[in-house]
Formats: sequence, structure tokens, C-alpha cells
Amino acid sequence: MQSTEDVTNCPDCGHQIRVEQHYVTWCDQCDWNVDPAPQTDPTPAWRLRLEHRLADALYRELETGGIHRPGWDAARVAAYLLSALVLVLPLVALASGFALLIFYRPLWLSGPLALLAFAVAHLFRPRADKLPPDAQLLLRDQAPTLYGVLDRIADAIGAQKIAAVVVDAEPNMWFGRVGWRFRPVIGIGLPLWTSLSPQERLAVLAHELGHGRNGDAHHGWVIGAAESILHELRLTFSEQPLDRYRQDLSYQINADATYVGLITRLVNATVGGLVRGYGWLLDRAYFRGSQRAEYLADRRAAEVAGSEATAHALERLLLSDTAFRAMERVLRFGSEIDPLEAVRRAVNEVPKREIERRVRASRSRETRTDAMHPPTYLRTRLIRARPATHAKVVLGLDESRNVDRELAPPAQAVLAEFRSAL
Ligand SMILES: [Zn+2]
Ligand SMILES: [Zn+2]
Repeated sequence: MQSTEDVTNCPDCGHQIRVEQHYVTWCDQCDWNVDPAPQTDPTPAWRLRLEHRLADALYRELETGGIHRPGWDAARVAAYLLSALVLVLPLVALASGFALLIFYRPLWLSGPLALLAFAVAHLFRPRADKLPPDAQLLLRDQAPTLYGVLDRIADAIGAQKIAAVVVDAEPNMWFGRVGWRFRPVIGIGLPLWTSLSPQERLAVLAHELGHGRNGDAHHGWVIGAAESILHELRLTFSEQPLDRYRQDLSYQINADATYVGLITRLVNATVGGLVRGYGWLLDRAYFRGSQRAEYLADRRAAEVAGSEATAHALERLLLSDTAFRAMERVLRFGSEIDPLEAVRRAVNEVPKREIERRVRASRSRETRTDAMHPPTYLRTRLIRARPATHAKVVLGLDESRNVDRELAPPAQAVLAEFRSAL
């Protein structure tokens, strides 16, 4: 129903623009009001400029065909080296512990020191990724259709077959490797899954398996282990409630001993500063690598599912918060309709113009190298710039419905759990 009130003029360029109820009014000619609530970012301006430049440079490299396949670029090598140096820390602690016990006497002195070294080694030990104990798993024999689809994708891109599917209520999908055998696991977030068409689903699954094929989870693990060690170090060498307590205590014992607090602050400033700087460097190197990994996983997805379906799926991802909120609303306030049906309706209601606005808003919002994913507008542009001819794997409507039937039991459990947590 188009009436005269549904049109207005852009205050910036005067172009006639459509007004859609419940949605942001914006101008597609000059991008006026494309992002009415820009996120406030505490990052200093120079750093934002640097990060924008890094993100642009990466995009141009991919667009001109400078990067063809996953592998070792300078950023990945740097991230690995920085991580390896940190991962050596628990090994050094372990070795020192043994050395103290074997070579140093008296034992009453070397014993406690060795214990301290072992404690450090234990605290900073690398850990394998684990699934949370309450994860809703969908195993191979419970979901032959879904695993059939996953196997076809895995064959098409030469990836290892998926060992387990986790169903959750997150508005996204993910790929990970769990345990010390690094078994590939895929996570299906119900709000996102529900809002996708069959071939878009295939595209997102192919994107996630593409991460598996490109070895991204392995790299992620090495860097993640280093990150967690740095995190512990950051906590140790930053201002803490305990510092205050120590200061108060030393003041009570000896009011002149102000140097205790001074030493703490000095150590925090130097070691803590070093740790923070190191972490920042590692982040920069890693995020360039991880954004590159996203582009390359997109490319795999486009080869398997077709370019258009892949680009569409990415645009749908911009609606994931709409999908999530629709699901949450039904679960929180109760309703006649099924929460996932509510997701479907909410997403299908969103006008094309609103999706276009969100794509354009992603330009200013997401052009950051510390975002795990590159901005959607660049991702879709790259996919469409080098379109793949046709889809290698197709997910039909019937097959997609069968998958939904297989997903239903864990989905019910996930939704029930979500509701009880509200
Ligand atoms: Zn305008
Ligand atoms: Zn990804």
C-alpha cells in the first residue's frame, strides 16, 4: 500500500526517498542517515585510520587476485612467531622446575621454588578446545540427511568430514576443532539457520567447512592458546583489588614503606605495558590473517553453493539480530506461534531496502581489522566481482525440510533451555 505519506525528500540532496514504517528512513543517493546510531568507539582516531587502511589493503589484494589460496602470508607468520614465543613460557617454567629439583641444593630451598615453577607451568599450559558439557549434540546416526549434505560439501572442497554438529541459540554458525585430536565440529545457531533459504544454508555450511579446509581452526588454536596466556599475564600485571589491599597492609605495618606500592605500580607499568603492547601486536597480525581467512572461506562457499546464494546468505547475516530478537520475544513473553516460525516471519518481513541500508551501514561500522569478519559490503562485493559459474552442491527444498525435522529434537531442547534461562 503506497500512499503519499510514504515518500519524503532527502534533507541533504533533495532526492525523493521512500519511508517505510518501523524502519530507518535513509537516502540511497547520498547515504544520508544510513547509520542513524553509529557506534561510539573509544579507539583513538589514528588507530582507526590505520585499521581502515589495513582492511582496504587486504581487500584490494584479494580483488586484484593477489591472494589465491590460504597459506603463509607475512601476517600469519608474524602471528605464529609471536604466539610461539608466548607458548614457550610454560615449557621454560616446566624445565626450570625440573632443573631446580635435579641440580640445586639444599632441597628445602629448591623444592618450594620448583613447586612455584610447576605452578606457573600449570597456570599457563595450553588447553584443547572443549565443547561445553550442556552442548546439544546432533550425531551422525540421528541426522543422516544433514550429515549427507555436510559430507557432499566436504567432498566438494576436499575437507575432513564433520564429526559432530552442535545446535545452539546463537544468531550465527561456527566451525571449531575440539579435543587433542582436533575433530571438526560445526555449530548451527537456530535463529540464523531458520532465516536462511535452502541454498543460503548450504552456502553458510560451505563457508564453515571452508575454514576447516583452509586450516583456520588450527591456526586459531595456536594463537588462541597464546592469547589466553597473555590474558593471564595481563590480569597479573594490572591494577587489581589485591594491590590496594597489599598497599593498605604495608601502610599499616610501616607507614614509611611507600616504596611497596611504588614497586607494584612500576612493575605493572613496565611488564604490564609490555604484555599489553605484545597482545596488541599479536591481535593486529592475527586479525589480518583471520579476515583473510573469512574472504577465502567465502570463496570456497561461492564455489560450492554458487556466488549469488553465498552473497545473499551474507546479507541475511545482517538480519541475525532481528532473527534473534524475534525468537527471544516469543520465548520471553509466550505466544501462540512457534519461536522459530516467528523468526521466519520477522526476517521475511524486512524490506529489501532495509537490507541494502544495513549493507551500506556495514561500511562505516565494520571496517575494522579487529572485527573477526570483514565488513559485509566488501565480502559480498568480492564474491560478486568474481562470480563462480554454478553451484557444485545443491540443497533442495525437500532435503532442507528433512534437515529441519532432524534438527527438531535438539532445537526443542535448546529453546527450552533458553526459556528457562530468561
Ligand atoms: Zn540524499
Ligand atoms: Zn567465517
